[in-house]
Amino acid sequence: MMPGSNQTALLARPSVAIAELTGGERAVALYASDMPDRFRVSAVTDSQVAAWIVQGTERVGLEELRRRAEFSYGHRLLEMSNLVPVDVQARHEQRFPKARRLFRAQQTAAGTLWRNPMTPETLVRNTAAEVDGECPCRGTRSIPLWQDEDASVSRACPVHGRATARQHRAGVAL
Ligand SMILES: [Zn+2]
Repeated sequence: MMPGSNQTALLARPSVAIAELTGGERAVALYASDMPDRFRVSAVTDSQVAAWIVQGTERVGLEELRRRAEFSYGHRLLEMSNLVPVDVQARHEQRFPKARRLFRAQQTAAGTLWRNPMTPETLVRNTAAEVDGECPCRGTRSIPLWQDEDASVSRACPVHGRATARQHRAGVAL
């Protein structure tokens, strides 16, 4: 390897545009950065937060950042419905062993959205969610709640049935 080639690669790497990161991606980047576990919000400048987001993004890589953000949001959607499978929970905790740090990163990331809003293209990606493992809907987009010989009741999967749920609501006069 030629001396200095690493440096050249570093210089050639395009800088991270924070507006092109979703709130969830910014949170994952902050989690992976040198951001301290605890700090006073008033003691940290916007440019320091931005520097942590760039640092975390460069550490994790854009593709992995998106993957983790999608898994994190998928976990949250299942969690809100008390539907997180044990193995999905285990992988979530493996990925984010410090729950308080993750919460802090999410809060801090949300705080950047006002000053540094997402681009329209990024906003489209903001609701992307995936399950790291088998989803309780098993790919059917709906989760059976109970069933007997005559009837069954199911609910839309909070991760994969969201479009269906919206269409359903739109079709019903509330
Ligand atoms: Zn599902």
